[in-house]
Amino acid sequence: MSDAYDVVVIGAGPGGYVAAIRCAQLGLKTACIERESALGGTCLRVGCIPSKALLESSERYVQAQKHLKEHGVKVKGVSLDLPTMLARKEKIVKGLTEGVAHLLKKNGVERIEGHGSFKAKSDDGYTIEISGSKEMKTITGRHVIVATGSTVADLPGVERSADKIGGSTEALSYPEVPGHLVVIGAGVIGLELGSVWARLGAQVTVLEYADRCLPMMDSAIGKEATKIFKRQGLTLKFGVRVTGARVEGDGCIVEAEGQDPIACDRVLVAVGRRPFTDNLGLESVGIEIDERGRIPVNEHLETAASGVFAIGDVVQGAMLAHKAEEEGIAVAERLGTGWGHVDYDAIPNVIYTDPEIATVGRSSEELEAAGVPFKSGSFPFRANGRARALGQVDGLVRVLAHAETDRVLGVHMIGPRVGELIIEASMAMSFGASSEDIARVCHAHPTLHEVVKEAALAVDGRAIHS
Ligand code: FAD
Ligand code: NAD
Repeated sequence: MSDAYDVVVIGAGPGGYVAAIRCAQLGLKTACIERESALGGTCLRVGCIPSKALLESSERYVQAQKHLKEHGVKVKGVSLDLPTMLARKEKIVKGLTEGVAHLLKKNGVERIEGHGSFKAKSDDGYTIEISGSKEMKTITGRHVIVATGSTVADLPGVERSADKIGGSTEALSYPEVPGHLVVIGAGVIGLELGSVWARLGAQVTVLEYADRCLPMMDSAIGKEATKIFKRQGLTLKFGVRVTGARVEGDGCIVEAEGQDPIACDRVLVAVGRRPFTDNLGLESVGIEIDERGRIPVNEHLETAASGVFAIGDVVQGAMLAHKAEEEGIAVAERLGTGWGHVDYDAIPNVIYTDPEIATVGRSSEELEAAGVPFKSGSFPFRANGRARALGQVDGLVRVLAHAETDRVLGVHMIGPRVGELIIEASMAMSFGASSEDIARVCHAHPTLHEVVKEAALAVDGRAIHS
């Protein structure tokens, strides 16, 4: 193959590899550069997939230890085999990352291993230098899609130490269950990975600056989540701004404004992620990052350099794998067909705690701030037959609809398997549905989906089972 491509994708996370495959499907000669030997990005290597493997395994452990007896199933001698649990997670990651390599090959995408950086713009397009692999190499792309993702954000005063004070990557592989784990940040990673280690037996203290967990979500859900996680044994402290952490002796000390220093065995820093553009050579093609380190893009995801696009965690918006994928497809289709589109109003967001939390659209706080008149309806899982049969009755569904048009503006859920239920709401919102539309769809009985229907009925004060 010659070294000139229609499209060069930098980064093989869910944004990059999906974009590359779609470009190739559309007949564009495509290369995908990735600096890690395993493909799939943060998501497959150290994010979505390994965290969900551990969430699933640790949930089974709790079920066997505590909940199976409620079903009349007696299990004796339940014990934890952490090395096997971690090895299972690694095996799942390996299978999926190898699967991405297979998909690239099958679709005719050339995979190039190494660190890509812009060198110059010429009449043929953009020159990209690839370093760090066997030998330095240069290729050109008529179009370039930057999908370099994100990395963990540091907190001033917190001295990272690979062994004791780290981020999510370290917390996916602790070699033993920490006696006391302090988690900084009650956001998505803090709650998911805090739950994993709490289930496996650690004492977990979560320190959060805001006044509730998940401050970015609808307050009704954040409040319900706080109640449930406290009952599960997580120690959640709000209004706490962490100012420092350091290793001391065999353990760590965490310092926060207005608090006594907290001694613990390990610290998980989960205060957000920052876009990753290190050594990308953006300046050589006239691209400047914004004040939060993101690559600015227009409504077509095109950067200040014509023909260079950016997608996923490295641009504005939610840092979610499926958002990165949607953007990758949109750019590929724009290049291949002239048209590409992402429906940002209907991107779901799921947190895989127990119970799960899932939202789509705007929160009540966002609607209030924007002056949008809305009405709401809520329905609890406790009143649902299937939830009772499952023995998982915590949580609720909340539907927000426009006060005049009834169009659904946001749906917020906490409860069993809501990560699956939310797709009903995303679909409804994609089609511009009203709450009455959802309420008039016949929902199978007994299913958890009936809670969504009842919440939609409740918008108009017509819920049947409450
Ligand atoms: P990334 O996945 O970060 O991929 C970028 C790739 O680019 C990386 O492989 C990197 O090595 C490569 N790269 C960077 N610079 C260069 C360069 N110059 N040259 C070559 N290669 C380069 N999201 C969800 O939707 N659901 C979840 O359940 C979920 N769980 C998560 C759990 C954890 C612990 C974490 C940390 C994140 C989780 N996320 C989840 C977020 C999700 O992982 C990201 O939103 C997603 O991976 C972003 O995709 P991306 O393609 O933009 O970037
Ligand atoms: P986050 O933005 O979800 O939460 C960070 C939390 O840290 C916030 O609640 C913030 O108020 C708090 N905080 C910040 N500074 C603090 C300080 N000094 N002291 C105490 N608290 C402080 O970030 P995250 O949990 O690190 O996750 C990063 C991103 O990864 C998320 O935005 C999400 O998009 C993605 N992710 C998604 C999933 C999923 O989809 N299930 C799972 C994991 C990660």
